[in-house]
Amino acid sequence: LSTHLAKLEAHLARYRDKGILNLIGGQDVAASATFETRSPVDESLICTVARGTDADINAAAKAAKAAFPAWSAMSGEARKKILHKIADLIVERAEEIALCECWDTGQAYRFMSKAALRGAENFRYYADLAPSARDGQSLPTKTHLNITSRSAIGPVGVITPWNTPFMLSTWKIAPALAAGCTVVHKPAEFSPLTARILAEIAHEAGLPAGVWNLVNGFGEDAGKALTEHSDIKAIAFVGESRTGSMIMKQGADTLKRVHFELGGKNPVIVFDDADLDRALDAAIFMIYSLNGERCTSSSRLLVQENIADEFESKLAERVNNIKVGHPLDPTTEIGPLIHKVHFDKVTEYVGIGKTDGAKLAAGGDRIGDAGWFIQPTLFTHANTSMRIAQEEVFGPFLTSIRFKDETEALEIANDVQYGLTGYIWTNDVTRALRFSDALEAGMIWVNSENVRHLPTPFGGVKSSGIGRDGGQWSFEFYMEQKNVAFAL
Ligand code: NAD
Repeated sequence: LSTHLAKLEAHLARYRDKGILNLIGGQDVAASATFETRSPVDESLICTVARGTDADINAAAKAAKAAFPAWSAMSGEARKKILHKIADLIVERAEEIALCECWDTGQAYRFMSKAALRGAENFRYYADLAPSARDGQSLPTKTHLNITSRSAIGPVGVITPWNTPFMLSTWKIAPALAAGCTVVHKPAEFSPLTARILAEIAHEAGLPAGVWNLVNGFGEDAGKALTEHSDIKAIAFVGESRTGSMIMKQGADTLKRVHFELGGKNPVIVFDDADLDRALDAAIFMIYSLNGERCTSSSRLLVQENIADEFESKLAERVNNIKVGHPLDPTTEIGPLIHKVHFDKVTEYVGIGKTDGAKLAAGGDRIGDAGWFIQPTLFTHANTSMRIAQEEVFGPFLTSIRFKDETEALEIANDVQYGLTGYIWTNDVTRALRFSDALEAGMIWVNSENVRHLPTPFGGVKSSGIGRDGGQWSFEFYMEQKNVAFAL
């Protein structure tokens, strides 16, 4: 821990004086107003951050517009080289990125060190797709030869949340650049550090000025201005469902194309014929890693009633042994929640669960009086109508609900407004197929925790999102299709 803290201090030193500035048209821009970013570990000041205004967004959108013709016309091979260089530099600075992200967000180093490298993989994957991004097809008929092609949609806005902010920013920005779009990125106000490092890396890698612009600030001003700007052709947004609704309204006047990755209340369904030890490990990992601040977390456990007593008691024992501590300590599994408002929200749900009649089987209390640490929490004997079974808590907080049979399990699983992921544990293949076919979710894993394969579609149904990322799905969003029909 002390080594990590010393390294972190050295990395942060360069932000202490000037703070985090916006990067527009390849230049640092003096901030007309600032806000503070504080660590959730002890509320200490990390640095000040530029509070982007309408004028900053306008300047960034103009810079992105000016850079678009050359960037979109650059050969895919040339874009590929730059994107690979960005990946190389991410790998070089992976430790710095992980340390800063942990200090800024409270997420544990053991997970964040991998998330930084995942960011590099995202760039490599889309770097390799850049040369074929414009590829189309020929669709001949007796009378016409139809030739389709794709081209980048234009400058796009990318708005990201505070959970795993580095990885998520790479996930949205890498395909946009590979497609030939230019970008204005508005990262979350609660976690600005690594977005700045990422933008610096991109410029160091040789990305032309104006291709990637960074404007920090709050959703209600910089974020809103970005979604309303007429030069911005599309908004890729990751965040809460209700913010997605706001963005859709804000973008209506300029007919903005939107891509939404939103909230979740994802079920992990454990049948009595499953490999219960593996299911237990996976259920724990999918809600208590990354502080439970994870859109794909399995925050609802649906467990078959004949195995529920034993499964829940093993679960409670394991939850009580999870190590909560300093996020930079490599042995820590859960760090502090991102900030006070979020901490208050999560702890409020502890009270709601008790009042609604669920059984608090583990955790629920604050740890210490500095920072936003909470014990990993487990409620059992809940039912589907309770708020802790319906609403996204977004913390290390699991709600267990018992079911009788497959029919009831499916009813409960689908009885929420969300539909991002689902995890099914059974050794009956036919049941797994039947259940996954009927489960309302964009992504389902059978006998597995969440393992991401970049060419597969990523996204949710219902209130969990609109559109898909991954492979060619990302290009569908960031590119326009054209068909030219030649009379024969
Ligand atoms: P949030 O919606 O509060 O904020 C996300 C971003 O939107 C921030 O940058 C914020 O400044 C900006 N914003 C807020 N209001 C805005 C407005 N009116 N116009 C434009 N921008 C605005 O979300 P959060 O609390 O930062 O993140 C947590 C949420 O993100 C959870 O609901 C989680 O499930 C979701 N999430 C989803 C995925 C996914 O892939 N589906 C991935 C990660 C997080």
